[in-house]
Amino acid sequence: KGALKKPKAKKWDHRFSEESKARSASSLKNAMRFFKPDTISLCGGLPSSDYFPFEEISAKVPVAPEFSEAETAVSGKTFSTGKHDAKDGKSFLDLSIALNYGQAMGPAALVRFITEHTEVVHDPPYSDWDIALSAGSTSALEVALRMFTEKGHYVMTEEYTFSTAIETVTPMGCKMLGIKMDADGLLPDDLDHVLSTWDESARRAPKPFLLYTVPTGQNPTASTQSLERRKQIYALAEKHDLVILEDEPYYFLQMEPFVSGQTHGVPKPFKPVPVADFLKNLTPSYLSLDTSGRVLRLDSFSKIIAPGSRCGWVTGSKQVVERFMRHQEVSAQNPSGYSMIHLYNLLEENWGHKGFLEWLMYIRAEYTRRRDIIVNACEKYLPTEICSWTPPKAGMFHWVKVDVTKHPLYESRRRADGSVDYATLLEIEEAMFLAAAAQSVLIARGSWFRAQRGSDTELFFRTTFAAAPADKMVEAIKRVGEAIRTEFDLKE
Ligand code: PMP
Ligand code: PLP
Repeated sequence: KGALKKPKAKKWDHRFSEESKARSASSLKNAMRFFKPDTISLCGGLPSSDYFPFEEISAKVPVAPEFSEAETAVSGKTFSTGKHDAKDGKSFLDLSIALNYGQAMGPAALVRFITEHTEVVHDPPYSDWDIALSAGSTSALEVALRMFTEKGHYVMTEEYTFSTAIETVTPMGCKMLGIKMDADGLLPDDLDHVLSTWDESARRAPKPFLLYTVPTGQNPTASTQSLERRKQIYALAEKHDLVILEDEPYYFLQMEPFVSGQTHGVPKPFKPVPVADFLKNLTPSYLSLDTSGRVLRLDSFSKIIAPGSRCGWVTGSKQVVERFMRHQEVSAQNPSGYSMIHLYNLLEENWGHKGFLEWLMYIRAEYTRRRDIIVNACEKYLPTEICSWTPPKAGMFHWVKVDVTKHPLYESRRRADGSVDYATLLEIEEAMFLAAAAQSVLIARGSWFRAQRGSDTELFFRTTFAAAPADKMVEAIKRVGEAIRTEFDLKE
């Protein structure tokens, strides 16, 4: 309804890469514009569904709000989809559609559900936004980077960032540019300073305009930008004409504040709060603040349904999403049809919007409980004289700083200015990693996530509270504590 009064997105031609501008529509998919209900197509090589050796597929899934594994075993419902359910009027998505080639945005029935979801959760403040399915955010990010970068460009991001993003950017001939951060994420002052003082000839690169950010439960630091912080950064994006890639796999994993010594329980059966209350308590997204259409938001089912679904979606201005789809047509095309069928049945046929949001409340509660367990274990078992952290407010990671200056090697290698060289820092980090591994615990090394690799001056490690069962998590932290004490020559 309000869409008519909303402004249109700005145009982004000046930001697209040569590669993206050169993409033309798929000749075969484009021909579908001439398809009418009575058309006999001898055009695209779409195999006839007669030869799809799947007559029906089904899945047993939880009914809202009885979400737990134990409850699902009892009350779960089985949804089946036949090959021709759409023609037979039983469903809007069937095997003959989902298992064939389709349009780049994804099958209409699933795209419609996700569009409605986006309206409810983000309500973008401009009129011509659009959605396209992706094969997950790893793939969507790679496509997006190709859309907006040329060799030699800098991509701005948090000082520590998702390691795969660094590993995607670097071979493209681009560099990550780490912006300073605190527990609330990127620091607007540093972002403004970097952009306002950019010297193209000294840097041998044009002023950067692409900001890759994970605003909620950031990987690896768990930093979560407040609304105020988001507004300041968006204002800078307007000032410097930035494009924002908002990568939000953990958006719905926003938690109750941590209280030392306490563990939030998850009632069984789960008791959802009214949907409006849940939505009101989520920090608004960049997409919901974006009046110019300069945000491309990446969502993913990986952390809220299952990573192997290899399904996500992007939301942005129609012009930007159109360029995204032109790349999709020559790469992943669509998520797997099996995946899309099951997601459609789960979301549309089973849960509906209310049930889906209740599921999101449920996993948020489960992650809150797990966060409480790991942070309490850290308080109990890590040597707090050298380890420090901010309890995560979202996501699935816990980021721990270790005072590297207290390591015996650091003392012996101190230079005149009090620092040590990078090799020494890495040596200490590796020793800590190996000491934990020797105790059969794997932790992730902070340096893997450093946006500008090799510029670390501090020591961090990342743990996740997503994976291990509660008792194993506590045992692992206890062993990490022992490993660090031994490495740093600390008394028990
Ligand atoms: N290569 C060739 C030669 C093809 O004919 C096709 C399908 N038209 C493809 C690749 C695309 O295959 P896929 O559906 O596995 O992406
Ligand atoms: N983006 C961030 C910030 C992540 O932490 C992850 C998962 O590790 C991904 C993207 C990958 O998501 P997907 O499974 O949708 O490719």
